[in-house]
Amino acid sequence: MKSIIVIGGGAAGMMAAIAAAEQGAAVLLLEKNEKLGKKLYITGKGRCNVTNACELEDLFKNIVTNRRFLYSALYSFTNENAMEFFENCGVPLKIERGNRVFPVSDKSSDVINGMAKRLKDVGVTVRFGAEVNKLCTENGKVTGVVLRSGEEIACDACIVATGGLSYTSTGSTGDGYTFAKLCGHTVTDCYPSLVALKITEPFAKELEGLSLKKVRLRAVQGKKELYNDFGELLFTADGVSGPLVLSASTVVTDKLENGEIKLLLDLKPALSKEELDSRILRDFEEAKNKQFRNALDKLLPQRLIRVIIGLCGIPEDKQVNSVTKQERNVLVDVLKGMELHIKKTGGFNEAVITKGGVSVKEVNPSTMESKLTEGLYFAGEVLDVDALTGGYNLQIAWSTGYLAGSSAATNE
Ligand SMILES: Cc1cc2nc3c(=O)[nH]c(=O)nc-3n(C[C@H](O)[C@H](O)[C@H](O)COP(=O)(O)OP(=O)(O)OC[C@H]3O[C@@H](n4cnc5c(N)ncnc54)[C@H](O)[C@@H]3O)c2cc1C
Repeated sequence: MKSIIVIGGGAAGMMAAIAAAEQGAAVLLLEKNEKLGKKLYITGKGRCNVTNACELEDLFKNIVTNRRFLYSALYSFTNENAMEFFENCGVPLKIERGNRVFPVSDKSSDVINGMAKRLKDVGVTVRFGAEVNKLCTENGKVTGVVLRSGEEIACDACIVATGGLSYTSTGSTGDGYTFAKLCGHTVTDCYPSLVALKITEPFAKELEGLSLKKVRLRAVQGKKELYNDFGELLFTADGVSGPLVLSASTVVTDKLENGEIKLLLDLKPALSKEELDSRILRDFEEAKNKQFRNALDKLLPQRLIRVIIGLCGIPEDKQVNSVTKQERNVLVDVLKGMELHIKKTGGFNEAVITKGGVSVKEVNPSTMESKLTEGLYFAGEVLDVDALTGGYNLQIAWSTGYLAGSSAATNE
């Protein structure tokens, strides 16, 4: 019987262990924490957005990095397979807005318990407090692992599913990158992603907690547009967050070191500049005897008015009927392109995922096996793959975990 060690009892590792055991392998799952799925527990604000029930084609569109590498994995274990898997584990699911799939109970613990039960049913041995320190290889082939305690455990194949670098308190401390490097693998630079962005503008503090719906956000570096989408944005004490910003972060965090990146916020995306100017003229007509600061109530949320006034430089106590066309043009420009300058990201401890990891060029996409070391497999976030929010990152973990586990068990 083939003996397989899976390192990491997170989403990808648990799935890999189950898939390998279902193919008849003797599987040992090593987890350094005292329980399984510590990160899984905090996913989806404790509700665990297990996957996305979209068409497979759309699933690929939501993968940001190395989409093509994931074709085999996502076809081997699709989002439908994932849903069926959880239903069969005794975790009924429901589909919410944007095709996001959650357990009916809204409890991520049910997902973990369902998987723990399946691990037991298929005969996987799970060891807790078992931190792998090193992989053992001989003549280009994996032969076992060494634990921090010094204990050596032999195996025929080993699956590295140690996760990325975000929320290190959950156990994802990047150990897999070290294992991979020692086996000759390239690990690309890693960046926090799906993460809030800090801005240089001190007015963020004034706007903390303000959520803006139906705005357009662009990210530009020099003349290059990196991101352009429409949705919801949230101001934090020192920056911006919310769905639009998290998505934007996936394409900006690795480019911050190349030069300044500006965010341009269009507060009135439904109106052209001309239409917005006419709208402002109508509002000004109604408020012509008021001061400028009292003429924007219909156009903007109260908290934003002071900041916008400051940005367009029109004296706040100016009579509305003496605001010039030129001043109005500046106001329109600010409303259609409020500039925010990115200082830095929220860092790994605020990031949902890690962008970067074990280079996929050295991993076989049809099996997840290393092209450099026989019997060595990778699954989940340790790989240089990442996706947007919506259940896609966990789907990557399930699919790569399943493919790595079943391949490791069946490869000759
Ligand atoms: C706050 C938050 C919310 C999220 N919400 C969602 C969501 O709703 N939907 C979604 O799709 N994605 C979500 N994600 C992303 C998702 O959680 C990850 O993409 C996914 O958990 C990656 O799975 P993984 O198995 O590769 O790694 P992990 O889940 O990080 O698991 C790695 C495991 O390996 C163990 N380990 C590490 N090193 C060693 C070692 N040396 N020896 C033994 N064990 C080791 C760790 O302790 C850990 O248990 C969220 C992430 C965060 C941080």
